[in-house]
Amino acid sequence: MAYDSDNVFARILRREIPADILYEDAFALAFSDINPQAPVHVLVIPKGAYISFDDFAEKASDDEIAGFFRAVRAVAQKLGVAEGGYRLLANHGANAHQEVPHFHVHIFGGRPLGPMLTRTGRP
Ligand code: AMP
Repeated sequence: MAYDSDNVFARILRREIPADILYEDAFALAFSDINPQAPVHVLVIPKGAYISFDDFAEKASDDEIAGFFRAVRAVAQKLGVAEGGYRLLANHGANAHQEVPHFHVHIFGGRPLGPMLTRTGRP
């Protein structure tokens, strides 16, 4: 599967559509999820064109991978959720219900999040 450079997060990276941008560095951009499922629900995306975690882990350079995950931590620190706790989630592919084909990590926090998955599979 080829990377779709018109996906919504690629367009946010190019500033073609608005987003509530909370953090940016050389490797990553973070913005509020448009449909938040917790008091804190932020998405962190790499600047490179990677479809999913699987694609990123296969093709990104070591610098990109390290820079990206350091950025995820920096965002969590900036959001103030590190002390109370937060959850990271990355959906890859159909069974995980990945909707946007640009790798992203969700950061959830701001309240007790409960168990990882419900019996229905709904978060
Ligand atoms: P996933 O199922 O992991 O691909 O999650 C995609 C996420 O992107 C969902 O939580 C959506 O609410 C979120 N989303 C979709 N479009 C936008 C947008 N334009 N700005 C911010 N978040 C978005």
